[in-house]
Amino acid sequence: MSFGIAGLPERVTIYEVGPRDGLQNEQARVPTAVKAEFVHRLVGAGLRVIEATSFVHPKWVPQLADAEELLGLLHGADGVRYPALVPNERGLERALTAGVDEIAILGSATESFAQRNLNRTVAESITMFAPVVERATAAGMRVRAYLSMCFGDPWEGPVPVDRAAQIGVRLLDLGCAELSLGDTIGVGTAGHVTAVIERLGDCGVGPDRLAVHFHDTYGQALANTLAALRCGINVVDASAGGVGGCPFAQSATGNLATEDLAWLLQGLGIETGVNLERLVETSLWMAAQLGRPSPSRVVQALRPSAALGREHLKWPAAGPRSKSQRAEPEEDEQELQPPSHQRDC
Ligand code: MG
Repeated sequence: MSFGIAGLPERVTIYEVGPRDGLQNEQARVPTAVKAEFVHRLVGAGLRVIEATSFVHPKWVPQLADAEELLGLLHGADGVRYPALVPNERGLERALTAGVDEIAILGSATESFAQRNLNRTVAESITMFAPVVERATAAGMRVRAYLSMCFGDPWEGPVPVDRAAQIGVRLLDLGCAELSLGDTIGVGTAGHVTAVIERLGDCGVGPDRLAVHFHDTYGQALANTLAALRCGINVVDASAGGVGGCPFAQSATGNLATEDLAWLLQGLGIETGVNLERLVETSLWMAAQLGRPSPSRVVQALRPSAALGREHLKWPAAGPRSKSQRAEPEEDEQELQPPSHQRDC
């Protein structure tokens, strides 16, 4: 059963970041074939936009050193997009060579994070991105810009709304098609999210050019998502199973889990195209690969039910599912024990 709220979008695109943002923050180095299977399972669960990897230098992110090899293993599918993160012009060269047709760049709303993550001031980083976006768009690529630390920063504290909006506008003005507002350490709250989106609206940036990227450090990711939906945003980033942490926030639980997002949207009657059951199975499989339980609340809630039997699942969507729609759990999933703690990172 679903209960809608007036004024929310009828459909939301989930921008899946697990293979890139998730795995780059995992300590374990995942074999390329496992990554490819992860991506294909996500496609099988109905996700249509999956940020697959990054062309950052392997010295900085060794977890994603296999970008070209991974992309070579991925199957195309109708309507499926595989964007990749590109940090600079060298990264763009690699993306072009690999045949990528959609990239993302990563900017910062604060000087402290720009210095630590990009080794540049905010202004210098925008100057660095300008030729990347220009060349990418000239080559027919779609470019998304992330704006990290939109709401708060571990070194500078709360980020002024005007500052986040102004830097977001500068990134979009480079020629980016979309701006993803990143709450990198998960300190944002619903009113703050609304204020930033409204300020961007005052600057001429409508919700159709925005996405949101929340972390659940303080348990606010879904409340913040609902606030963004109320503002008209219909692209939401999430990581399957909540894979990945945040190296800049102590005790951060990492990205909003795709299952938790899908549960909210399904309960609101908002179309996503995602099969929650298959997604949970994918995350259980990935958790077994990583050797630790998924931090997703929805995965945790549904996992004991799966152990008891599929008839115990209580999906928020209308109507019971036929037996033929239910996939049997993988053998390794059956061996996975319920989590005893959240990952401390
Ligand atoms: Mg993230």
